[in-house]
Amino acid sequence: MSDPRPTVLFVSGHDPGGGAGIQADIETALSLGGHALTLISAHTVQDTRDVAGVRAADLPLLREQAALLLADTRIRAIKVGLLGEAEQVPFVLELERRTGAPLVVDPVLRAGGGTELASARLIDALKDALPRIEVLTPNAAEARRLAGVDDLEACGKALVAAGARNVLITGGDEPARSGDDAVINRWHRQDGTKRAFSWPRLAGTFHGAGCTLAAAIATLLAQGLPMAAALADAQAYVHGALGRSFATGRGRLIPGRRP
Ligand code: PLP
Repeated sequence: MSDPRPTVLFVSGHDPGGGAGIQADIETALSLGGHALTLISAHTVQDTRDVAGVRAADLPLLREQAALLLADTRIRAIKVGLLGEAEQVPFVLELERRTGAPLVVDPVLRAGGGTELASARLIDALKDALPRIEVLTPNAAEARRLAGVDDLEACGKALVAAGARNVLITGGDEPARSGDDAVINRWHRQDGTKRAFSWPRLAGTFHGAGCTLAAAIATLLAQGLPMAAALADAQAYVHGALGRSFATGRGRLIPGRRP
């Protein structure tokens, strides 16, 4: 059967403001030619400035939803964003095992506004899951927390040593250095090779950029792109979306995901 719109399964939180989470996933998949299947891992209370609350979704409901989706649809990639509780990690790994689809994980540990979004147990569960992860996309702060070291090169090495097959550490959350307006994203591979991508730093602060990047990587992998092309094209897509970003509230800008 032809597969004109490869299907990506997104396990993400709902952001009622439409900047991050599952809406970012759906918009990205649609823009890049994929189709989104969605499992809502958590409901959030938030605006464009910060997150005020997170409620984990009911795990038995997620299991029921997944059972029918997996029986009905060929899933080409899985993207995981915000998780509501540590118990959702084994659920996600079960999805990976049953589909055999590459697992792209954006470890959402803290909102851009500063609120903590992951418990110590959830962080430990994510670390244990690293050997099952095809692509991990932490920002610099998340990479430091997961790896437990400060230097970003050392973080990349530690996270692939812990089992992740590819780690793309994004540098958008690093402070701009005077005289240097580049955002450096670092790709580390299991074989020890690495590559840095440099992007002009855009003015403004953004809400949902990380979700958009991981969703784009998953959608492009679902279409069969090789890893290097998926990572490069996904970053270019995010850079374009950030360039088209717009304000809906008093906080950060929302990426313009539709080209
Ligand atoms: N809310 C949800 C549902 C998310 O998935 C995320 C990030 O992935 C956030 C909030 C935080 O996004 P940001 O740090 O871009 O504001």
